[in-house]
Amino acid sequence: MNTDRDFRETVRYFLDVTTPQILESTSCGAISRAQAWRAALFDFGLAAFGYPAAYGGNEDPLDALIWNEESQGKIPREDNLFGIGVGMAMPVIRDYASKEVKDRFLRPGLRGEEVWCQMYSEPGAGSDLAGLTTRAELDGDEWVVTGQKVWTSGAQNSQYAILLARTDFDAPKHSGITMFVLPMEQTGVDIQPLIQMTGEAEFNQIFIQEARIPRGWVVGEVNDGWRMAVALLAHERVRTGQSSTMGDSTQRSKSGRVPIPSRQLIELAHEKGRIGEAVVRQELATLVTGERIIEFIRRRNTVHPSIGKLWRTRQGRAAADFAARMCFPASPAWSSDQESEDYFQFHILNCRGMSLGGGTDEIQRNTLGERALGLPREPGPARDTPFRALPRN
Ligand SMILES: Cc1cc2nc3c(=O)[nH]c(=O)nc-3n(C[C@H](O)[C@H](O)[C@H](O)COP(=O)(O)OP(=O)(O)OC[C@H]3O[C@@H](n4cnc5c(N)ncnc54)[C@H](O)[C@@H]3O)c2cc1C
Repeated sequence: MNTDRDFRETVRYFLDVTTPQILESTSCGAISRAQAWRAALFDFGLAAFGYPAAYGGNEDPLDALIWNEESQGKIPREDNLFGIGVGMAMPVIRDYASKEVKDRFLRPGLRGEEVWCQMYSEPGAGSDLAGLTTRAELDGDEWVVTGQKVWTSGAQNSQYAILLARTDFDAPKHSGITMFVLPMEQTGVDIQPLIQMTGEAEFNQIFIQEARIPRGWVVGEVNDGWRMAVALLAHERVRTGQSSTMGDSTQRSKSGRVPIPSRQLIELAHEKGRIGEAVVRQELATLVTGERIIEFIRRRNTVHPSIGKLWRTRQGRAAADFAARMCFPASPAWSSDQESEDYFQFHILNCRGMSLGGGTDEIQRNTLGERALGLPREPGPARDTPFRALPRN
C-alpha cells in the first residue's frame, strides 16, 4: 500500500540522492543538464502536480503539499529554463486548450523536452498589453502571423512560444486577441538578442514575418485570448512571487531574477569582517525576515499574486543594495576579477529587471487597487470602441 510516508521518502530520495547525481554526472552544457534533471523529475512522478495521470500528472493535493514542503530550497537553479513552459504555458494549456493541443504539448512540456517562451510584449504594448498589434490571419489550414515582439526571455533556447496576436481589429481592444502556440524554428521568426547592462543577453526582440501556425493550435477560443492572457499572467506572478524561495540558497548562479539569498549575505558580511556591526546585523535581520515573509505568502494560496510579486521585488532590491554596500563603495562602476564579487555585481545590476518582468510595480498596484480593493478603474476610452479607432503609440 502506498502511504504518505512512502511518498515523502521518494521525494527526499529524489532531491537528496538522485538530483546531485544527475547534476554532477551530466557534464555537457547547462541546457542538457537542466533537461536531464527535469526528465528524471517527471519519471519519478514529481513534475506535474495538479495534472491528470494521462499526462504523467498527480492530482493528489496531499502529495503536492508534501512536495512543496520537502522541495523548499532544494530545486536546482537549472529548473529556471522551464519557468515559462512549466510555470505558465502548461497550466494555461491544461485549463483552456483543446484535447489536440493538450495531447501534443503537455507531456513533452512538463518533462522539459520542449522549452517555451512568452511572446506578449511589443514595442508599443508593454504595460498596455491589450494594445498589441501583431496580427494573425487565417489562410486555409494555417494562421499567418506578422508583427514584432520584444523582451522575449529565453527565445533563443525555445522551440515553442505562447503568442498573443490580434485576430480582429474591428472588435474592442480586449476582444480581438487570440492566444496561439507558435513554433519558433521556422524562417518567419527572426530572433535577435538584446544585451543588458549585466553583459548577458537574456531576452530578445523578435521580428515575425508571415510565420505559420497550424489552424488548431489556438489556446481557448479565437478572439477570447485576453482571458487566457490574464490567467497566464496570474501564474507568472505567483511563480515570480515565490521564486526567491525556490532556488538552492547555497548555489551561486548568475541566472534568473531572484533576490540574493540572505544566507549568502550573511557569509558576505563575515567575509568583509562586518558581521559584528550593529547596523549590519539589523539590516540582515530585516532581510531574513523578508525572506520568511515570502515563504509565508507562498504557503497561503489566497493571497493575491501581485502581493507576492511586489514583495519579492522589494526583497530583491534590498538584498542587492546590502551586497553593494558590503562589496564596494562605487557600486556598479566596478569590475572585479574575483569570482564571488562578480556574482554579487551581476545581481546588483540584474535586480532592477525584477520590477518590470511580469508587469511593473505600478501595474501590480493598479491591479490590487482595482481588483482587490474595488477602487474605480483607470480612466480611458470606452471599452466598446473598436481597436482600429483607438489612438496608437
Ligand atoms: C527582465 C525582463 C524580462 C521580461 N520577459 C518578458 C517575456 O519573456 N515576454 C514578454 O512578453 N515580455 C517580457 N518582459 C517585458 C515586460 O513585461 C515589460 O517590460 C513590462 O510589462 C513593462 O512594459 P514596458 O517595458 O513597455 O514599459 P511601459 O509600459 O512603457 O512603462 C513605462 C513606465 O510607465 C509606467 N506605467 C505604464 N502604464 C502605467 C499605468 N497605467 N499606471 C501607472 N504607471 C504606468 C510603468 O510602470 C513603467 O514604470 C520582460 C521584461 C523584463 C525587464
